[in-house]
Amino acid sequence: MPSQPEYIGPVDSSVVPRFAGIATFALLPRLDQVSRADIAVVGVPFDGGVSYRPGARFGPAHVREASRLLRPYNPAQDVEPFGTQQVVDAGDIAVNPYDIDTAVAQIEEGARELTAGGTRLVAIGGDHTIALPLLRNVASIHGPVTVIHFDAHLDTWDTYFGAPITHGTPFRRASEEGLIDLTASVHVGTRGPLYSRQDLRDDKRLGFAVISSQELEDEGLSKAIERLHVRIAGKPVYVSIDIDVLDPAHAPGTGTPEAGGLTSRELLTILRSLSGANIVGADVVEVSPAYDHAQITAVAASHVAYELISAMAPRGSASVRGGTWAVSAALSFVCASFNAAMASVRARSASVRAPAL
Ligand code: MN
Ligand code: MN
Repeated sequence: MPSQPEYIGPVDSSVVPRFAGIATFALLPRLDQVSRADIAVVGVPFDGGVSYRPGARFGPAHVREASRLLRPYNPAQDVEPFGTQQVVDAGDIAVNPYDIDTAVAQIEEGARELTAGGTRLVAIGGDHTIALPLLRNVASIHGPVTVIHFDAHLDTWDTYFGAPITHGTPFRRASEEGLIDLTASVHVGTRGPLYSRQDLRDDKRLGFAVISSQELEDEGLSKAIERLHVRIAGKPVYVSIDIDVLDPAHAPGTGTPEAGGLTSRELLTILRSLSGANIVGADVVEVSPAYDHAQITAVAASHVAYELISAMAPRGSASVRGGTWAVSAALSFVCASFNAAMASVRARSASVRAPAL
């Protein structure tokens, strides 16, 4: 008799093929299928703050679809991210698509409800506007936090067309509101043309250091990672990842692409260096499926979220107890009719039940 798993993991893909059923992130249980959650992946389908190509409102569903292929063991960090903590898919925060102020208030309120019991969020956007209400919530819990911001852009501009809250302004507003640690925050992967030199002066005054895309190339990953860790100095961090930090070759499906960006391998390597850091929350934003091809961007985004969740996992494996591979009673119920249908197929063809590789 196997012991009751402490954590409910993804649907067992050796029983239910990973391309079957309704997509939750990494085929994890929904929030209403668990009694408590350490980490909730939550979609924030808002793109009313974009300045160029729209469409990131469809990001959460697109990333969930691409995340079906994620597996329970992460060898790069030597951790079972769904086996040492309860990770769930909390669905989407319902946001007003016509009114930015209303949407921002809804996102903050939704985040507050989800984090009330100590749950940490990995939010899937949505455009980068959503980082502001998410930071407001995190700062209300932890005080000013160190932000590690991966992006081609600074996102510390003041206004667009007179609007103070857009996807190009969240970190300026966050800095002005006292939400971030001005001594330790950092942009990573910045590149591309700016409006003027003043943008960089303002950015520095607002509390950010910069590890640019060019510096990453010049000094190499290890040196840049070292510099990043000196800057954040072991403090609690909020990690905000605009998928456009990747080169358009690695993430074409985004709203404001800039040439000369990181490879997905470089980004994943930097994220792995945060393994065991005190990550109090995170977001992955700006995936815009209409410009994506063959899920390139969504696959990258799903792996980025997976590495974040892995970095947030408690070290040590005492509490795994096979939980990662378990199919919960609730999920069994959800899949029961599917399994029944598949049973007859399996009876006819043993090859249907191939190893889940
Ligand atoms: Mn950007
Ligand atoms: Mn951004």
